[in-house]
Amino acid sequence: MTLEIVRFVRDLYQTKDPIYLHEPLFIGNERKYVLDAIDSTFVSSVGAYVDRFEKDFSEYIGTEKAVACVNGTAALHISLILANVGLNDEVITQPLTFIATCNAISYQKAHPVFVDVDKDTMGLSPDALEAFLAQNTTVTEKGCLNKTTGRIIKAVIPMHTFGHACRIDEIADICNKWHITLIEDAAEALGSTYKGKALGTFGDISAFSFNGNKVMTTGGGGMVIAKQSDTIIRAKHLTTTAKVPHPYEFTHDNIGYNYRMPNLNAALGCAQLEQIKGYLKSKRETANRYKDFFADRPETFVDEPENSHSNFWLNAILLDDTQNRDDFLQIINAQQVMVRPIWTLMNKLSMFKGCQTGSLDNAEWLEKYVINLPSSVRM
Ligand SMILES: *Cc1c(COP(=O)(O)O)cnc(C)c1O
Repeated sequence: MTLEIVRFVRDLYQTKDPIYLHEPLFIGNERKYVLDAIDSTFVSSVGAYVDRFEKDFSEYIGTEKAVACVNGTAALHISLILANVGLNDEVITQPLTFIATCNAISYQKAHPVFVDVDKDTMGLSPDALEAFLAQNTTVTEKGCLNKTTGRIIKAVIPMHTFGHACRIDEIADICNKWHITLIEDAAEALGSTYKGKALGTFGDISAFSFNGNKVMTTGGGGMVIAKQSDTIIRAKHLTTTAKVPHPYEFTHDNIGYNYRMPNLNAALGCAQLEQIKGYLKSKRETANRYKDFFADRPETFVDEPENSHSNFWLNAILLDDTQNRDDFLQIINAQQVMVRPIWTLMNKLSMFKGCQTGSLDNAEWLEKYVINLPSSVRM
C-alpha cells in the first residue's frame, strides 16, 4: 500500500534514479550569464548582475528596491538588525520552522518566544498571537513589554511554511496594534500570493532565500525587501561593510557585514528568475497530480489554504493517525524516493528549550503527521 506512493512518484518523475525532495533545474540562460560574469572578471562583490538581479526581483515582487545577500539566513539576520532587535530583546515566531529563523534571532542575542501555528496554514496563528499578547504583554513607551520576562518584544516573524500563506494580513494588524515590527520569513514563499498580493510584501521587512533547494536558486543567496525606502537603503549599507561612499577612501560608520551576494551567484539568479513563471506552473501541476492521487488514500494531501495561491514549494501530506511515521519514512526512503518529516519543533531543541511558549497544540499535532514529498520542477 505504501509502495504505491513510490510507484506514483517514479511515474511522476519518469526516472529510476534516486528522487530528491527538491533539485534545481538549469534550462535557461544560466550557463550564458555565469560564463559572461566569468569573462567580465567581475565574479565577486562588484558587478552588473547584482544590480540587475535586485532590479528584476523588485519588479517581479512589486516593490521599490531589494538587497541581495549571501543567503537567506543573512537576509533574516539583517532584517532583525533593521528592526533594532538586540541584546535581551524578544522575537515572537512559530515553533514549526526551519532552524534559520531562530538562528538569526540568536545572532542578535535576542530570545525567541514560540506561539502556535494554524493547522490549515502551518504558519503563525493570528488568534494564538493575539491571545499571547493580550495575556502576557502591555504596550509601554519602550515598546511591547512582556510582563512575564520583563523584556521588550521587538519583532514578530511568521514563516510561510512550504510556500503556503499564513493569515498575514491579520498578523500585520495585530503587530500594528501592539507596536511590534513585522518581519516576514518568506524564504519558502517566492511566487506565492495572499489575497492576490505577493508574500513578502506584507511585512515591514521581509527575507527570501535562493538556496539550492528553494523554488529558484542562486547557489546560495537571499534577498531583503522593506516597506520604507530608508530601511532598504540601510540594508544595502549594512550588508556591504557599512562603507561611507567615496571614490578611494575607506571609511565605515558602523559595524557592517560582508553579506553581499557575489556577482557570479547573481548571474545565476537573473537566469533563474526568467524561468519562474514556468517553474510555478509546473509545481502547481505536480501538486494537482498529488492531490488526485491522495484523494482516495488514507493520507491527506495538504492543499493551499483559503486566500493563498501557493508556490507549492514542498508538497506535503498528513499521515493517517494509525500509520506509523517511522515505518512510512523508512519504507519509502529505502526505495530511494526521498520523503521526510516536518522539522522538529524549535522549542524542543537544546538551544531553545528554556524559551517561553504559548500553548503549541497545533504545532505538536502537525509535527507528528506531516510528511514532505519530492517536489522538484518537472520540465
Ligand atoms: C531556506 C530557509 C531559510 C534561509 O536559508 P538559507 O539556506 O540560509 O538561504 C530561512 N528560513 C526558512 C524557513 C527557510 O526554509
